[in-house]
Parts: sequence; C-alpha cells; structure tokens
Amino acid sequence: MTARTAAARTTAARALAGARPTPYWLDDPEHRPEPASALAGDERCDLLVVGGGYSGLWSALIAKERDPDRNVVLVEARECGWAASGRNGGFCAASLTHGLANGIARWPDEIAELERQGARNLDAIEEAVHRYAIDCDFARTGEIAVATEPYQVQELREAADEAARLGIDADLTFLDRDAVRAEVDSPAFLAGLWDRRGVAVVNPARLAWGLRRACRDAGVRIYENTPALELAATGGQMAVRTPYGRVLARRVALATNAFPSLLRRVRPYIAPVYDYALMTEPLTGEQLAALGWKGRQGLSDSANHFHYFRITEDHRILWGGYDVLYHYGSRIADEYEQRPETFRRLAEHFFAYFPQLEGVRFSHTWGGVIDTCSRFSPFFGTAHQGRVGYAAGFTGLGVGATRFGAEVVLDLLAGERTERTALELVRRKPLPFPPEPVRWAGIGITQWSLARADAREGRRNLWLKTLDKVGLGFDS
Ligand SMILES: Cc1cc2nc3c(=O)[nH]c(=O)nc-3n(C[C@H](O)[C@H](O)[C@H](O)COP(=O)(O)OP(=O)(O)OC[C@H]3O[C@@H](n4cnc5c(N)ncnc54)[C@H](O)[C@@H]3O)c2cc1C
Repeated sequence: MTARTAAARTTAARALAGARPTPYWLDDPEHRPEPASALAGDERCDLLVVGGGYSGLWSALIAKERDPDRNVVLVEARECGWAASGRNGGFCAASLTHGLANGIARWPDEIAELERQGARNLDAIEEAVHRYAIDCDFARTGEIAVATEPYQVQELREAADEAARLGIDADLTFLDRDAVRAEVDSPAFLAGLWDRRGVAVVNPARLAWGLRRACRDAGVRIYENTPALELAATGGQMAVRTPYGRVLARRVALATNAFPSLLRRVRPYIAPVYDYALMTEPLTGEQLAALGWKGRQGLSDSANHFHYFRITEDHRILWGGYDVLYHYGSRIADEYEQRPETFRRLAEHFFAYFPQLEGVRFSHTWGGVIDTCSRFSPFFGTAHQGRVGYAAGFTGLGVGATRFGAEVVLDLLAGERTERTALELVRRKPLPFPPEPVRWAGIGITQWSLARADAREGRRNLWLKTLDKVGLGFDS
C-alpha cells in the first residue's frame, strides 16, 4: 500500500466513524407517518394494489383520479416507502429508458416518442406534487453528466449531437472543463453534459409518504405489515391471501419491484441487486463556497461503474453508486443493506473528487435493492385473462418512471389501447436472465468485464460485445 493510499483510507475511515447505519431519508421522525393497521379479515375491492412503493402508490392514486368511485385497496408487506422508494438518490428523471444512450441503442425508432412521453410524465409528477401539496423538496434542477476520463469527453459531446440528430426535444448543454467546474468544482471533472429540463431532485421518502397521504385522502384503504402471500383466480375474480385475511378483487396491480413476484413467470426477468449510498453532515458556508454548487443540480459520472451525487435542502451531499452487488439465488436480505468495504470505497472516491472537503463526516450509510432487468428499462404484462397487471424492471431509474408504469398497468387492466400501450417498450419484454448457477456466473463475468472496460478507456471485451449483440446487459 502506498503512503497516498494509506492516507486516503484513514481519511475515509475517520469520515465514516459514527455514521448511522440507516437510510438518511427514512431517519425522519418528524415526517414519517404512523403505520397503518394490518389487514385482519376479508376485504373486497375493484382494484387491489400489492406493494406500497412509488409504483403501487401511483397505481392506487391514479386509479382514483381516473374513477373516484373505484374501490381501491393497497397492501404493503412492511410500511409504504420503506424499500427503494424511501432510500434512493432522489433523482427524478424524465427518461423512461434508463438514460438517453440506452434508449437510443434499444429503441432508435421510438426514442423521440419515449422522450416526449417521459417529459410529460415528469411534468405530471411536478403537477401532482403541487396539487396534493406534497412537501418533498421537489426542485427541477436538471442533471449534469460529468466526464472524468478523456475518452468520456468525446462521448458526452457525441451524445448531445446524437440527440439533436434524432429530433429529440431535450435541453442539453455541453460544458467544457471550466464551465463544468464553475457549476460544481472538482479537479476530477473534465467536461459535463447538462440536461436542464429532464431531471428534478426530490426528498424520496417524503415523496412516498406524500403519495401515501394523497391515496388515503382519495379513499384508498391502505394496510401495512400485510404481505400478499398468494394470488389465485376464484369465481371470475382474484383472491389474494395475507397472513390474517384475504382480499377479493376484480383487478390486481402488482408493484413489488425487486421482491419475488406473486407471478412466478415474471421472476426470471429480474435480478435483485444492491446499490449503496452515503450522506454527509450539512456542509458549512465555507465548505459550500469551496464547492460552488449553487444550482443544486444532480450529478453523475460516466463510467460503467458510476457515482451519483446531489446536494440536499440543508446542504448535505448524498454520494452513491459504484458497487453493485448481486447475491446468489437472487437473495434479498436486510443484512445486505450495510457493506463496510463499499462504504469505505465510496468515501475514498468522495474525497478524491472533492479534496477541498477533507474533514467532512458522513452521518448515514445504507443500501437498497434494485430490480435490474436485462434491458435496464421497465417491462409490463398481464396474467389471469387480463385481471392481473404488473410493471417491473426499472433498474435504478424508477423514481420518475414508476408513475408512467402505473399508468401503463392501469391501461392494460382496463383493456384500453393508449399512446403508452402502443409503444414497443410496453409491448415487448426484455430477455430473461438464465437460471442459477449460470445467472450468478454470467453477472459476475459481466461485472468484471465492465470494470475492465472502465480501466481501458471504455473498450468493451468480446463478452460485452456479444451481450450487446443479443440485447442482454447488466446495470444498476
Ligand atoms: C440506493 C438506491 C438509490 C437509487 N437512486 C435512484 C435515483 O436517484 N433515481 C431513480 O430514478 N431511481 C433510483 N433508485 C431506484 C428507485 O428507487 C426505484 O426504481 C423505485 O423506488 C421503485 O419503486 P417501486 O415502487 O417499484 O419499488 P419499491 O420502492 O421497492 O416498493 C416495492 C414495495 O412492494 C412491497 N412488497 C413486495 N412484495 C410484496 C408482497 N408480496 N406483498 C405486499 N407488499 C410487497 C415491498 O415491501 C416494497 O415496499 C435507487 C434505488 C436504490 C436502492
């Protein structure tokens, strides 16, 4: 170990000492609602929503907006918003395709329309935040993708040109080294691409809790600590069993994200992976001045293993990403939410980007599970003669896209053809992941190859090129 590496380790360890091992956003007794009671006995409804993250909450809320007389029930295994929806980075993006580059690569003929519908979806979220008076610090700041390696500078330039060539109505500004450092100062930044309109930052837990309140005000009956255990057709409707009761529903919307779907056939499409984040203590005026981060834009860097970072209302920095952990057998467990070696690595990277912040401490460390699918963008479907609908596969970019997903699921359950259901993105599914042990080995080789590509100016090896050809990928 060189003296420099040893010093970086010490700085990281010092900064992490005493951090609370819990998601910052959920550690908020002032705003966190009292849990709703669990379901005991039988319930009947027109629509049952399973899952109380953004997907489920938007599904329930929009169902009531479309028809206020509809009888809607939502069951949540723990508490609404406890999972990814309450612990994410809070980047609420218009993109429905996990970013423009992935959208262009997979849906070149449809990308302009996907971007248009995505932009409308983000506008609708903003509008709902105001209409329901959801106090979630929603700020339409935009996002800057930064280049930290010379080869990425050209990629950012090309991305802006490509968007213009495809007729995509996006407000993208290329920033050279000085321009990007004038927005947020880091010696690591070589250039940036600022998407001014396509991203808002939010307080994610307060968005979930606000949607929960809006649902209840609209008459949705929410049961928490109520896992749906089994789904079966009975007498022309669906029956969902819970530990102490049962719900009979005309239609069911499944919004269970990375957790095992009640429909077994959906499971092969999803690989649950863990993503991690740190939150700093509030920065002092002096530290803020050293950063120059006035616009509160979200930022992310441009490698395969990328970081995302943003600043909060009270001037903390959220710093997340890089490591992505898959566990054999698609296992999900609370113990995976804390990973000291990842937190140490993230902290070292933080101080490498922002050496002027040496001495800043982290107040919170956490991880959460993401529903990666092989095309990194949501997929949709129905089962039981159209009585059950689902959306999943948001792959780490679901804060905005889950609202669009909810609209699609409601369209499908109503048997309606809309501009959304006409999209190829909605009509076609991704390739499923192979069963174990091939799944585990394949993800491992892919992650190793992605890290190697990052170290070799983005050059992809034969394995990645083959996956690109068949449309199979792995991302967070
Ligand atoms: C650390 C981290 C950072 C992220 N950062 C961003 C970001 O900055 N921007 C972005 O766009 N996306 C981000 N994401 C992803 C984003 O948070 C998700 O895509 C989004 O929250 C998914 O919402 P959801 O409702 O589908 O899932 P979830 O929030 O996971 O909700 C699913 C819910 O279903 C419940 N459930 C599951 N099974 C059952 C059952 N059988 N019965 C009853 N309930 C059940 C669960 O308890 C859970 O509450 C991040 C994710 C993580 C983990």
